[in-house]
Amino acid sequence: MTYTHEHLSTYGHWIDGTTVPGQGGTNDVINPATGETVAAVPAGTAADVDRAVASARAALPGWAAVEPSDRAALLRRLAEELTARNEDIAQAITAEMGAPIAFSRLGQAGFPALVTSATAELESDVAWTEKVGNSVLVREPVGVVGAITPWNFPLQQVMTKVAPALLAGNTIVLKPAELAPLSTRFLAEAVAAAGIPAGVFNVVYGSGSVVGEALVAHPDVDMISFTGSTQAGRRISTVAANTIKRVGLELGGKSANIVLDDADIDSAVQQTLVNSWTNAGQACGAWTRLLVPARRQAEIVQKLKAAAEQYSVGDPTDESVRVGPLASEGQWERVNSYIERGIADGATLVTGGPGRIPGLEHGAYIRPTIFADVDPNSVIAQEEIFGPVLSVIAYEDEDEAVSIANGTVYGLTGAVFGAQDHALSIARRMEVGQVYINGADFNPLAPFGGYKQSGTGRELGRAGVEEFTEVKAIQL
Ligand code: NAD
Repeated sequence: MTYTHEHLSTYGHWIDGTTVPGQGGTNDVINPATGETVAAVPAGTAADVDRAVASARAALPGWAAVEPSDRAALLRRLAEELTARNEDIAQAITAEMGAPIAFSRLGQAGFPALVTSATAELESDVAWTEKVGNSVLVREPVGVVGAITPWNFPLQQVMTKVAPALLAGNTIVLKPAELAPLSTRFLAEAVAAAGIPAGVFNVVYGSGSVVGEALVAHPDVDMISFTGSTQAGRRISTVAANTIKRVGLELGGKSANIVLDDADIDSAVQQTLVNSWTNAGQACGAWTRLLVPARRQAEIVQKLKAAAEQYSVGDPTDESVRVGPLASEGQWERVNSYIERGIADGATLVTGGPGRIPGLEHGAYIRPTIFADVDPNSVIAQEEIFGPVLSVIAYEDEDEAVSIANGTVYGLTGAVFGAQDHALSIARRMEVGQVYINGADFNPLAPFGGYKQSGTGRELGRAGVEEFTEVKAIQL
């Protein structure tokens, strides 16, 4: 299906189980591969937020009273409804933020359904009621949850909040990213088709400064669950403090990937590129710093260069393309300026580089880029670039590798390649919320979240459900 302005021009907010026209103007959604407008969504206002919060508040007692096992059954149905809409969701995400279509079907549209069904299975792991001494501990929903999400995995970031919040009995007002809001329309339809009552899940479109802040400041919102930049997370913490609401923050990252002496280098090279260039590198957990033994840097860089030059960049609707455009022209400017900065600061350009790609000047296409000999304290090694830019950093010994890995303000994820026990001992020394050894698989049951300025709290797994509960102790 091709997404046209006409097709999506009926977009409205989703409040109390139905489409509601916005009370302000509209925001265009731009296809970064072509520069064309694919849809317009309402530019929400504080009044739209009020209306959605009132809907969520009214639905709360009924939803909180549904047995957790029945809520889990509805989540399983929701996962089926999402799966049934996989192609629509994938096409919408490719049109709005440029993810290659093959990856959109699997990662952008497939993972959210997977996370939803995995969350349903956690129902039996959560201690909804337990006895401790002379107390009964009861886990209750926090209440009305405001969810605020970014554009890089537009539906995945939504479902890592919505699925556990629903399982725990909360009602939700979602504000998706302005750049990539379209898949949430299909989610709203799936929620209704699954039989989840009207008002339990609501969507208000609009900007962070208007709709986002209105949600964060709202006295009738009990919790904010935010995924996005560390800068916006800081502002949200400040605004939320006035009403002492619970805040979960999933923020930026600058993940280190340590290749040990006993690593399988060919496998490390292949998996490093898959991880750091999937979604055009626009992933919070991307392994953007590759730490290698100094005496093996030349050999590893040569293999990286050969593997990198196999990557196809181009039209994201082409089934064979692995790297599409960046999500917007703003992203292009940002990533391009970091590539220029890396060169100016003296890193060795191995492949890629700044500027438009001949033949692809019409879209936000950037060359996947590798730098070697990167100073661990330089700008490109310290700041989140959020594009397909890999920095290779040499280390002399493992203590130095761990110190470089831990030497940023972030602490989201990490990776180690090496003999398993050896790699495990290094993983334990890394100040991050998740570590992948030898390219292990993503686990939707494992908690995900950051140390340091990568955030507070955890999503996914039992811990991710418990984030959305209050604990009441009743003494007998
Ligand atoms: P962003 O912080 O600019 O925006 C994220 C969301 O917050 C958007 O919906 C935006 O409208 C809203 N927002 C912005 N300012 C706000 C404010 N003052 N009050 C309320 N809402 C506000 O981030 P982005 O550019 O959309 O996404 C990229 C960032 O997200 C990167 O830093 C990336 O690392 C991070 N991210 C983190 C994770 C994680 O799980 N830790 C996952 C994906 C992305």
